[in-house]
Amino acid sequence: MSSLMTDFLRQAGGTAVVDGGLATELERHGADLNDPLWSAKCLLSSPHLIREVHLDYLENGADIIITASYQATIQGFKAKGYSNEQSEALLRKSVEIAREARDVYYKRCTLCSSGDEADGRILKKRQILVAASVGSYGAYLADGSEYSGKYGDSVTLEVLKNFHRRRVQILADSGPDLIAFETVPNMIEAQAYVELLEEEDIKIPAWFSFNSKDGINVVSGDSLMACGSIAESCKKVVAVGINCTPPRFIHGLILSLKKVTTKPIIIYPNSGESYDANRKEWVQNTGVSDADFVSYVNKWCELGASLVGGCCRTTPATIRAIYRTLSSNVISQAN
Ligand SMILES: [Zn+2]
Repeated sequence: MSSLMTDFLRQAGGTAVVDGGLATELERHGADLNDPLWSAKCLLSSPHLIREVHLDYLENGADIIITASYQATIQGFKAKGYSNEQSEALLRKSVEIAREARDVYYKRCTLCSSGDEADGRILKKRQILVAASVGSYGAYLADGSEYSGKYGDSVTLEVLKNFHRRRVQILADSGPDLIAFETVPNMIEAQAYVELLEEEDIKIPAWFSFNSKDGINVVSGDSLMACGSIAESCKKVVAVGINCTPPRFIHGLILSLKKVTTKPIIIYPNSGESYDANRKEWVQNTGVSDADFVSYVNKWCELGASLVGGCCRTTPATIRAIYRTLSSNVISQAN
């Protein structure tokens, strides 16, 4: 399994680009996400917008696109009145939409005779991976606990495994290249994922991505090194990293991860803006500019990151800037 990521990174020249924020872009395209299902709501109401956003990211240089299933859970859909079958179909749909976007992109690449670029879009035939997003239990609760990691004593390892079990099975069977366990806020959820991957004999490789709000530990206060060690222990995990964390914290977090893993390191921070959990909105103009964001990227790669993208509040422009930075490195190495 590890060969998928190793081969992919080798073909990509050692580093690859992950896509950016989905919700922000869906809203910019006109979607209304004021709902506990958040971007998963678009699976129902406007799948064409999701496909457009995936395509936008591909045309701005992303090598990996992440499905709109972060907050898509069977439990969440059922709470909205959907049947079990409908809920499972919506999960599958998230992967289908991303795969369709990739197919459309490949067609556009074939039609583009100049090869590399046309009207500013990056139309470069390359291996594209679809990563099926699995948000944490806290993301389903939609009460901000994915940013506290405090689930309470009643949420045991078994509870977490049973919560995620069917969703992970369905996503894995829908034909993604990877499963992205994102914004993992604590050790117990990382452990639940590792056990699920084994118990259910999941055949799709996965990445684990943690989040931090102090640059030292994951958001629950659990040690990042302990969390990284759990990921390291599982052969099915092909990359470990950090997402939805301000760029200024990433440097130290990579150093911590490097102490416990030799797997490729994936980094997709948020824009650094602060999030107002009470008002459920991002506070404008508290983040870093795309230029500042990108000024970090080379440093992260020097430290050992090999997959870089963006999370909340990053845009296709951010991803384009990351693509430019990383591809200029490949060229200078070749020279
Ligand atoms: Zn995020």
